[in-house]
Order: sequence, then C-alpha cells, then structure tokens
Amino acid sequence: MGDRVTVKCGVSLYDGLVLEDDVFIGPDVSFSNDPRPRSRQKPEAYPTTRVRAGASLGAGVIVLPGLTIGRCAMVGAGALVTRNVPDFGLVYGSPARVHGHVCRCGRTLRFEDGAAACSCGQRFRQGAGGEVGEAA
Ligand SMILES: [Zn+2]
Repeated sequence: MGDRVTVKCGVSLYDGLVLEDDVFIGPDVSFSNDPRPRSRQKPEAYPTTRVRAGASLGAGVIVLPGLTIGRCAMVGAGALVTRNVPDFGLVYGSPARVHGHVCRCGRTLRFEDGAAACSCGQRFRQGAGGEVGEAA
C-alpha cells in the first residue's frame, strides 16, 4: 500500500492487491481475488489487482480479479469493474464503461481537437487511440 491512501469502512484488502499512492477506496468496496471460486479450494496464486496512483473508487464498487485501475481514474459508486480502467478514465455502471475522463483534481474533462484544459490549470492531451495523458 502506498502513501496517503484512504480506505473507508467495510473494505477487505486481500493478498494480490496493490494500492499505489493517493488512492481513495470508498466504503464497502469489494476486491474479488479468485477468478474461479470453489468451496474449500484455494488458487495456487492470486492474480494481482492494481489501483494506480491517485485513483478513486466510490462506495460499493466491485472489482473482478487481476485488473488495473488507471492513474487518477474515477470509478462511480456501485460500479462493477470487469475490465481494466484507463488512466484518468471516468467509469460507472454494471458492467463499468468509460463515460469520459477526469482531471487529477476530479473535475470532468471536455476535449476539443484532442486537448482539454481543466479549470484547476492542468492540461491534457488525448491520443489517436483515445488514451489520455497530462500535457507538459
Ligand atoms: Zn483539474
């Protein structure tokens, strides 16, 4: 677990889970860690689930095993995360889908011609493949 991580009530942190710096885990978030659960059988190894720096998971999110939540991503309350979440991605729903992107500060980004500027001053670029990163 990294520095400045917030973990609210009702969250179990299992083997195989990596929480990087500045991650927020809301109440009652569930990280599942056995892709094929059976009673009284343990997997030989647990897949690594990684929550990258600055990402936030709202209340009651469920994350399937072995996924990566990207840097500064925002996962809406109650989402069922079945795929990797991109950096700065805003995802929600069941299954969770990308509905947009958020700034490091949490505000929603609006892209024009592959660029966005947040009211906090941070600038972003969106690549041809849809990936979002901070502009220098
Ligand atoms: Zn911002």
